Amino acid sequence: MMRIIESKYITSAINQSGFPDTIWKDFAFVGRSNVGKSSMINTLTNRKLLAKIANKPGKTRLINFFEIKYLAHVQGCFGLVDLPGYGYARVSKSEKEKWQKMINLFFQKRQQLAGVIVLIDIRHELDPKDIVMINMLKDLKICFMIAATKCDKIPKNKIHGQLKKFLNELEKKDVQSEIASDKASNDSLSSLNEPSIDKIYISEFSSLKKIGINKILQWIEMIICSETTRGKVIIHDKECLDA
Ligand code: GDP
Repeated sequence: MMRIIESKYITSAINQSGFPDTIWKDFAFVGRSNVGKSSMINTLTNRKLLAKIANKPGKTRLINFFEIKYLAHVQGCFGLVDLPGYGYARVSKSEKEKWQKMINLFFQKRQQLAGVIVLIDIRHELDPKDIVMINMLKDLKICFMIAATKCDKIPKNKIHGQLKKFLNELEKKDVQSEIASDKASNDSLSSLNEPSIDKIYISEFSSLKKIGINKILQWIEMIICSETTRGKVIIHDKECLDA
């Protein structure tokens, strides 16, 4: 099982010229504002303020890059990329278009991008912008998983039903799906198959109750280990944070 042992903020960028020239696979996090993205990044990395360091006022429209050192069967690094949130009611149409362009450019140009975690509040309906996002990912053949956040806010016995509801909506849009089973929290990856762009993985998550951490890390590990997904070379055993 993968464990994150160190994380640090690298840089923030507005376009390709500002993207860091790293040599490991990137995983991007995206979702509506307030969905719990910063909390998730802090929870996964076990750092109280990591996401906030980059998200100082005025920096929230930027793409923030982090370097994550992990230990699994080997030690390695991956990039964590915090994409700007979407769905501010007060944001103008042109701001929204700018946002969409920025995200699309990132998805297209970032060669290191190996996977995307799309965050959705488990209590809410899918937002049209979530669908726009998922369609962009499908078109560009980028692996993604859905994390249904704040699952502590609904009764435990309603969680599975909510996940199923999201999947039904997406299946209507012709996408195969799979709920990450509890087996996924075992040490092996046996319940997760090879990553596939034709299949959606979904899992509940709570930063408050620390639920779902292993499912996300396992999905990341599966893609890191895969030779078939997009994303630039990964260098195992690299002492990335010591440099
Ligand atoms: P972001 O805008 O997507 O980065 O969202 P934040 O991480 O800043 O969280 C937005 C609000 O939701 C904050 O008030 C958090 O305390 C709250 N929140 C985030 N994650 C959880 C969670 O797992 N459970 C609960 N109950 N609240 C959460």
